[in-house]
This record gives sequence, structure tokens and C-alpha cells, in this order.
Amino acid sequence: MLRDSMLSFLFGSRAGKLLTVLVCLSPVFSCMPVGHCVGQTRNSGTVASSSGKIAEYKSANFVLRTDLSQEEAKNLLTRLETMLGLISRYWGRKNPRIIEMYVVKSLSNWPADSLNPQGRASIARGGGLTIMQRRSLGTRWESKAVVYAVADRGTPQHEAVHAYCAHAFGSTGPTWYSEGMAEIGQYWKDSDDKSVQCSPEVLRYLKTSKPKPLKEVVDRDQFTGDSWQNYAWRWSLCHLLGFNENYTQRFKPLGIALMSEQRDISFWTVYGTMSQEIEFEYLLFLRNMEIGYRVDLCSWDWKTKFKRIGGRRTALSKIKANRGWQASRLEVEAGEQYHFETVGNWSVEAKGEELTADGGADSRGKLMGVLFHDYSLSEPFELGASGTFTAAGDGKLYVRCKDDWSEIADNRGAITLKIKRLP
Ligand SMILES: [Zn+2]
Repeated sequence: MLRDSMLSFLFGSRAGKLLTVLVCLSPVFSCMPVGHCVGQTRNSGTVASSSGKIAEYKSANFVLRTDLSQEEAKNLLTRLETMLGLISRYWGRKNPRIIEMYVVKSLSNWPADSLNPQGRASIARGGGLTIMQRRSLGTRWESKAVVYAVADRGTPQHEAVHAYCAHAFGSTGPTWYSEGMAEIGQYWKDSDDKSVQCSPEVLRYLKTSKPKPLKEVVDRDQFTGDSWQNYAWRWSLCHLLGFNENYTQRFKPLGIALMSEQRDISFWTVYGTMSQEIEFEYLLFLRNMEIGYRVDLCSWDWKTKFKRIGGRRTALSKIKANRGWQASRLEVEAGEQYHFETVGNWSVEAKGEELTADGGADSRGKLMGVLFHDYSLSEPFELGASGTFTAAGDGKLYVRCKDDWSEIADNRGAITLKIKRLP
């Protein structure tokens, strides 16, 4: 499911056909603890008994040739159809023709001439490959993609996303988009699910690495299959842009334009003016990311107006328990003292007890603050239901209900926050 090296070739042939080969190689998990990797292989269900006979299985969108057992093959087809349903609804286009897939459990079951040599070579390296042929039909085009993949948990799904994109749009777009979206496709289980569901290895890598600047992630000179680490960066950026409320609306049209090879469209033409905001939210995502994290609920509020206050004026805001940092409307000044009060209750579990903004015994449910200044954040600090605080610096005060970042979606309720400056 992770890839460590991929090459992309583009051939022109005499017949005017374009043949694109996307090679996605899964690593041998060389960078991960051996025990873990063995576990993954077992969990993928590829060790179950099978006669090793190659058979063909069909579903609405796929023809699958494989040496998996009948049961494994049927399970795979079900997963592939579910994913195809999700991605074709997302991109708003049906898969126009059958996707041919060769999914290989053991190459020893496959006679020499039974597989395309490039496909065989990719599988031998533990990965996958999608070969796309595109024919021009005057003003239209028609493309045909064939997938070769090792029978692990993620590779057939990853490659099937490439095949669908090739069929529906004629290309898979630039590397960052193509590979980022193929990873999203293999993790995606349900159309309403916006939560992070990447592999634990990817999560650990992203959280413990020095964040990669946006420019490097979307660099045009990248090549596919470079490393599984680069796949992780691409996935995380595509996940953020695809689900964060500030960027999601532009993301799908951008992707379709990129895959349709519209000229003069790039990441920078669409998001260039927002790149500082994206960079800030990307860093925040990488820092707080967990399995279950919701970038949509943690979308940063760039719109609400903030004000400095004094005298009898107050800053008033409504803060929801099931969101990340939210605007208090107060812009604080370093060294000034502020008094705050809250009204209302919230809960940090779907059926949990009602709490004030002081939170429960474990401090979950407590109102927290953080200062935003020049695209960076202060250390978060505790507020609670009422009290005073001295601003440690200048900045805009954002607040939230304290809870694990992976568990805010089931929180309920909201409180009203009122702040005034002390004389
Ligand atoms: Zn790929």
C-alpha cells in the first residue's frame, strides 16, 4: 500500500496513440519494524489457501484476472466497486469502460507470457502499474487502462484510481495530484467519512518529520514512484485541500482541469493567493493529525473580524464543542488583562455528561485559548468557564473545547463567550 519508487514513461507511437505507464512500487517495508510488516502482510488476507489457479472474475466495472482464491477475489471486487462508486460520485463522472486488472498473489502461478513484462517487473518489485492507452477520435478521445498489482491490501485500489482517472478524464494529472488522490482512494471507505484513515506508518512518518514546504510537495518536476514518504506528503496535502472547508470548493475543479490537461491551470493559478493560509493550515494539520482527525471541523476561520476592545465594549462569540480553534473576535494586546465569562454547557462525548467550560475531572471539555499572530500560534493555554488572563503577546484569540484531536466530531453543545478588557 506504500510505494517506494515509481517511474513514469510517456511514449508516442506511430498510430498517434499515447501510451502512459504509471509504475507504483510498494516498498518491502524496509524502513519499518519487521514484526509490524509481517503483521500487515498477514492482515491483508493474502495468505489464505488458494490453488494458485488463475481465474477471471467480473463485476460491473472490473474484470479481474487473479490467482487469489474465489472468496478473496470476490472480496476484492466488492472493495473495488465500493471505492469506484465513491470516486465516481466525487468526480461526477461514471467510469466509461471496464477496467482490466491483473492482481497477483504469487508470480510463480503466472506463466511467462501471461503478463505484460512491465507489469510483471512491477509486481516482482512488490508494487503495481497502470498502463494507459489513449486514442484520438477526431474531436474526442478514448482511453483504456490496464492495471497490474500485487495482491496486498492497498495497491489494487490505488492503481484502480489511476485507471478510473485515465478512463474518465484522459490523464491522471501531475504527480502530486495523481498519487495523492490514488492514496485517498485506497483509504476512503464511505462517502460521508472525512476522517483521516491513513496507515499508522504514514501517520507516524508525517508527525515526526520536518514538514515539507508546499512548494516542494506540488513541484512540477517530480516523478512518480519516487518514495513512499513523498506519497505521504502528497496524500496529506490532497486530504487537506479536499476536505478543509476553506479549500474544498476549488479543489475538485482544479483536479478535473489538471486531469483534462487544461492549459494555464496549476496549483498556483488556483491557490496562489491563499498559499500562506494553506501553508499555515497544512502545518497545523501535520501537527495535530491522528487517525480520525477531521480537517473539515478544524478549518481555520479566516473570515470573522477581530477587534481590540476597551472601556465597556465586549467581544462576544459562540463556540461549538465539535470544532477546532474558533474565532473569539478579540484581538489582544501584550500585557493587557482580560476578564471572560461563559454561558452554556457542552459535552465531549455523544452521550456524555453536560459540562461547563471548566470541563470534567480529566480536563476534557475545558475552554482553551491560543494566540494567532503573523501565521504562527502561541502555546495553547487554559481558560475555563470564567476568569481573567494576561495576554502574553499581541494576537487574535482563538478558543476551543479541549478534547483529543481525533475525537471532536462526536462532541455536542456550544457555549457563549464574553470578554472585556480590565481597566
Ligand atoms: Zn500510483
